[in-house]
Amino acid sequence: MKILLLGKNGQVGWELQRSLAPLGEMVALDRHSTDFCGDLGNLAGLAATVQAVRPDVIVNAAAHTAVDKAESEPELARTLNALAPGVLAQEADKLGAWLVHYSTDYVFDGSGTKPWLETDTPAPLSVYGRTKLEGEQLIAEHCKNHLIFRTSWVYAARGGNFAKTMLRLGSERERLTVIDDQWGAPTGAELIADVTGHAVRQVQLRPQDAGLYHLAAGGEITWNGYAKHVIAQAGRAQSAINLVVKEVAAVPTSAFPTPAKRPHNSRLATNRLQATFGLSLPAWQQGVDRMLAEIL
Ligand code: NDP
Repeated sequence: MKILLLGKNGQVGWELQRSLAPLGEMVALDRHSTDFCGDLGNLAGLAATVQAVRPDVIVNAAAHTAVDKAESEPELARTLNALAPGVLAQEADKLGAWLVHYSTDYVFDGSGTKPWLETDTPAPLSVYGRTKLEGEQLIAEHCKNHLIFRTSWVYAARGGNFAKTMLRLGSERERLTVIDDQWGAPTGAELIADVTGHAVRQVQLRPQDAGLYHLAAGGEITWNGYAKHVIAQAGRAQSAINLVVKEVAAVPTSAFPTPAKRPHNSRLATNRLQATFGLSLPAWQQGVDRMLAEIL
């Protein structure tokens, strides 16, 4: 199997380099690659890359993920999140290749408290959510052999993340204020990449499993609860970090105004993915604790 991976240095892309390695030969690109074009902003270059590499599977982990910045650069966000996946879909379909892509719970409006199903009607609140939704639609329209995984609250040990920010602030301040009215499940890039590897293998034998799936860790929490968990774990780990924080106060989303509106309900129901691929998605704490063990 020949795999073309785009966005190789992002949180998910980095882990995909590991999880997809046993599946076959891989051409892994980022936007600065010189051997082939891996820039999602260069649609003609992207098409030429697929035609030259002739992959069996394209995995697109690249995206415009700067949610607030997308509000002021909607055309760029649309090119990267919608038009580029559309081009990949058209080129994959010409080759009979698979296209694997990632989307987001931000396609929903965040209302209610129930985990979102794949069949629920999207109603994005932001440019990011709207452009990611259009990307999903273009893929479904142009490429029969596709897997789209909607995920949420992604973190990785590599690079910056919410937990690291909380640990830094917790070593500087006695009181932190963290939002307690947005619900979701922190989901590790490792988990997303491992599930992708399993799914890519399975659809080679069962192409009827193509489609849209929600992929998130089990359980649910608010950012405030997540922060408290991180601080408590760090306290127990007796790490080199000298925590001075005494309180993680709960505040509403309105306490931190941002250009892009965030959904309050980011819960994703993952039953379809678990049943189709025979997988079990662990509780969010498992991955977070593992990540903390790596960084503490
Ligand atoms: P990251 O931001 O870590 O990675 C995105 C990658 O895309 C970066 O390596 C970035 O490169 C790259 N990229 C940006 N612009 C371009 C471009 N013009 N051409 C090529 N590459 C480019 O995101 P994640 O790994 O977290 O996200 C993976 C997928 O999951 C995305 O589809 C995202 O929408 C989705 N998702 C992410 C969530 C999250 O919480 N992070 C939540 C839900 C869904 P560079 O670093 O050079 O900018």
